[in-house]
Amino acid sequence: MKIRNNDIATTAVHAGNQSDSANNAIFTPIVTASSFIQPNLFEGGDFCYSRVSNPTRKAYESALSELEGGIYATATSSGMAATNLVMELLPKNSHIIAMRGVYGGTWRLFEKLKATTAGTTISYVDLNDTDKLINSIQKNTRLIWIETPTNPLLELVDIEKICKISKEYKIMTCVDNTFASAWNHKPLEMGADIVMLSTSKYIGGHSDLIGGAVITNVPEIAKDLDFVKTTLGSIASPFDAYLALRGMKTLDVRMQRQCSNALLVAEFLEMHPLVKNVYYPGLPSHPQHKLCKRQMRSGGAVVTATLNCTIEDLKKFISGLRLFVLAESLGGVESMVNHSASMSHGAMTKAEREVIGVFDTTLRFSIGIENFNDLIQDLDSALSNIKTTQGNNYA
Ligand SMILES: *Cc1c(COP(=O)(O)O)cnc(C)c1O
Repeated sequence: MKIRNNDIATTAVHAGNQSDSANNAIFTPIVTASSFIQPNLFEGGDFCYSRVSNPTRKAYESALSELEGGIYATATSSGMAATNLVMELLPKNSHIIAMRGVYGGTWRLFEKLKATTAGTTISYVDLNDTDKLINSIQKNTRLIWIETPTNPLLELVDIEKICKISKEYKIMTCVDNTFASAWNHKPLEMGADIVMLSTSKYIGGHSDLIGGAVITNVPEIAKDLDFVKTTLGSIASPFDAYLALRGMKTLDVRMQRQCSNALLVAEFLEMHPLVKNVYYPGLPSHPQHKLCKRQMRSGGAVVTATLNCTIEDLKKFISGLRLFVLAESLGGVESMVNHSASMSHGAMTKAEREVIGVFDTTLRFSIGIENFNDLIQDLDSALSNIKTTQGNNYA
């Protein structure tokens, strides 16, 4: 699949008018002040107190908003804090419909916190099954939570289709756009009301910050979000806002490289006899490849594969990797491998995991910006150390 033309390269660099008019600095300074002197007696000013608004955060928020095609963005201390802000928009005892296989932290927030503190009830459904979705709608359904591509099996949701249904039933939609990023698609332009992001991943892009954001193009939601954010105070610090804004500038070049590397890695893995299954929306073998071509600019920069080997050999494979590091998270410039069963899905039992298709030998690769020949050589050489479960050695 070829990467399609894109229009956000320039936006990512220039969005949010980031220069500093006070000093003519080319880039927004890190303003750590908690409070701002009020020269206009009792008339207020641009900034008063940094929980409410801060110059560094504001520059970053306007850039985020422009990037996602919104009218308002609020930058939070983490992706989870961003999701919590969205939850705070819902009245007590609301019902949510969420894509099955949502991010583990999202599931925990819904089930282990909101279910008890706010009486939230949640139905997890395959959002691509329109009948099931419509049948799950209740009188108190207030939100459809879309995650696409999902983690780690990279299932896609047809955003436009779901948003059409949600509008008909007057239900708010939020898309967790962390995996795709605005580079691959802009959910607000497809009819979603809210975009939630963990900026710890592709926006930051360098594995050096934790952050999140909520973006909307609906004025009433913007007003409510701003109230909730000021009330809860779960804001991004000026330093984190600076780091993320700096990272965002190279989003286009990073994503271009990461997504094209990912396709090559997926193609390599698919051909390898030790690999049982590859999940990558950019491959024609992916069940939603057509939707991927229509909805996304590329297949993304995450590739998941289930190997055909024992756990012992899986460990040997991971230890044999020289470039890919075994680590949580994704989206950084360096390539990473994640063992879903013990890491992201460690809280589930083996049986629960296998129902959703996460096996003991399933690995999620977050592809970085390295030279693709080096990445493929690294995988190839580590695979040559191990045997298939049938005992064949492909070295
Ligand atoms: C990482 C992640 C989150 C949570 O973000 P944090 O920044 O870790 O709090 C939410 N959704 C998805 C899809 C993620 O990958």
